[in-house]
Amino acid sequence: MAIVTTDAILLRAHPFSESSRVLRFYTRDLGLVGVMARGIRRGASRGHGGVDTFGEGTAVIFMRDGRDLQSLREFSPVKVRFGLAGDFRRLAGASIAAEIILRHAGEEPNAQLYRALSAGLDRLGSAGAENIVGEVLALGWCIIHTLGFAPELAACTGCGRILERDEMARFDLSAGGVRGPECPAADGSRRIGPMARAQLLALLAGEVPARLRGHGAHLTLLDDFLTYHMLGGRRLASFDFLDPSPPGEIDDSGNGR
Ligand SMILES: [Zn+2]
Repeated sequence: MAIVTTDAILLRAHPFSESSRVLRFYTRDLGLVGVMARGIRRGASRGHGGVDTFGEGTAVIFMRDGRDLQSLREFSPVKVRFGLAGDFRRLAGASIAAEIILRHAGEEPNAQLYRALSAGLDRLGSAGAENIVGEVLALGWCIIHTLGFAPELAACTGCGRILERDEMARFDLSAGGVRGPECPAADGSRRIGPMARAQLLALLAGEVPARLRGHGAHLTLLDDFLTYHMLGGRRLASFDFLDPSPPGEIDDSGNGR
């Protein structure tokens, strides 16, 4: 048995009994870890020693090899992030990030992923209302990139040709990236122009590009990409809360389909 003290972000909590909860943390030193937290009462969550979803702090965990659930000895919150829970769009964005990590992160530490999650949740919590969707997109794509699932945006996935800077392409979901006009793309592949490709590259790096356009189309692409490549066909209900506008093309040419 080892006692590990690590920075940790709470992704999900399930009640287990009157006095216990099962908590799933993403931690800096242990990667994804599930713990049984005894003696943390519901309702005590805002007081000393409480743990709230998306809160971040220092966890002290008893680790034993071969155990599915470890044992939480103590959690000292540093960032509470109540702002995320109080706004359904921010909460939806944070929930999308949590779903991806719960599904794909392992027990190996990944400092880059930890930083991406922590910084992205901070920005999501403090963004102005008009920037929330941008921060959701940046957080989602940055986590996808950090986990090694980034789409191909530079070269045609059909023939490998590097696209010209100003070239119009299509985003072939099943191929996991762009297709030039010379290669067939799957039915329903949306057009993606050079500016949208540049914006996606910024989002993959965790940055919201200036003058991000086509929020609805960007959200649809993220939703479709996650569903197809990372969630085994299961669509996340959280996207329903983010943008009511109908999906359009990710296309900055201005001339539509
Ligand atoms: Zn091609």
